[in-house]
Amino acid sequence: MIDFHAHLDLYTDPKTIAKEIVERGMYVLSVTTTPSAWKGTSALATPGSRIRTALGLHPQIAHERVGELPLFDLHLHETMYVGEIGLDGGPEFKRYWQTQLTVFDHILNACRLAGGRIMSIHSRRAAPAVLDRLVAFSGAGTPILHWFSGGKRDLQSAVALGCWFSVGPAMLVSEKARALVRDMPRDRVLTETDGPFAQIGGGSAKPWDAGGATTQLAELWGDMTEEETDRLLHANLRRLVAI
Ligand code: MN
Repeated sequence: MIDFHAHLDLYTDPKTIAKEIVERGMYVLSVTTTPSAWKGTSALATPGSRIRTALGLHPQIAHERVGELPLFDLHLHETMYVGEIGLDGGPEFKRYWQTQLTVFDHILNACRLAGGRIMSIHSRRAAPAVLDRLVAFSGAGTPILHWFSGGKRDLQSAVALGCWFSVGPAMLVSEKARALVRDMPRDRVLTETDGPFAQIGGGSAKPWDAGGATTQLAELWGDMTEEETDRLLHANLRRLVAI
């Protein structure tokens, strides 16, 4: 099972969650929202675990944490994974748009200079702008658009740009999202939860709830069993990491 976007450090008891991830043999991309969270969060990925930690600076707090960009640059050589990064065009964050752009551009440029990274990207109400920045900083690495909610045409542009997608059970309850997922190339899809932010059944999603997304993908795609779908997702992950 794969959860390619979870905020392990934001659970009430991250160590217990990390322990269960290891017991289940799960692959987890543990994303961070601030460079100052990098050290403590990467310590949750105990040696031998399949937890990988991503260095991030979340667009919704870019205006509060722009001062941590030097810390971002300092840690970038310690990981192949960057996230959560991106842009948020929602009305409550639009007033910080210029700062969001400064932060996102800085990070993409740093990734490009470092030879490229696997990036978990937030694009809520900002898909065209995110894609525009990815074009401007081509060479930043492999973008994985997490919980993509743009329009059909944005999706086509993202696919043409080489983007991947991570989709979760909370996202897949929406018919609009399901229609988008049908148009994503199957060989560039991974599962995620966005826990503990995402809610499932009235509670915070746990990394192992990603299995629900595998079930839903098998249903959506229609011509593969759940086991075959799971095998495809793992093959996708292996290919992504080998890029
Ligand atoms: Mn997230």
